[in-house]
Amino acid sequence: MEATCHCKAVRLTIKQKPEFLLSCNCSICNRYGALWTYSTPDQIKVECSGNETKAYKHGDETIAFHHCENCGCVTHWIGTDKYPEPRMAINARLFDRSDIEGIKIRKFDGADTWSFIDE
Ligand SMILES: [Zn+2]
Repeated sequence: MEATCHCKAVRLTIKQKPEFLLSCNCSICNRYGALWTYSTPDQIKVECSGNETKAYKHGDETIAFHHCENCGCVTHWIGTDKYPEPRMAINARLFDRSDIEGIKIRKFDGADTWSFIDE
């Protein structure tokens, strides 16, 4: 499956259709309004034409959130060397709507309990 930012400068590909998408309420995901699909970096390919993506790190800097410098879309995050395991996620909002239709969205309480809060 392929996801692109709005200007199509950044293209992300994953091999498998996600089993679920994750909606997190932490201070940053809440602001981005992103829906994440998680994987390991070897399962995700990121290609940029033109400028590279720009990374944003905060707090303990375990995660780098990337966005397209041109159109501003939040494209993915990748665990830094401070993250306990190789981890990466694509912003599933960048897939075509029809590609993610019907995939279950799980709510994650990243703000407080760091656990799923599915109804
Ligand atoms: Zn773009």
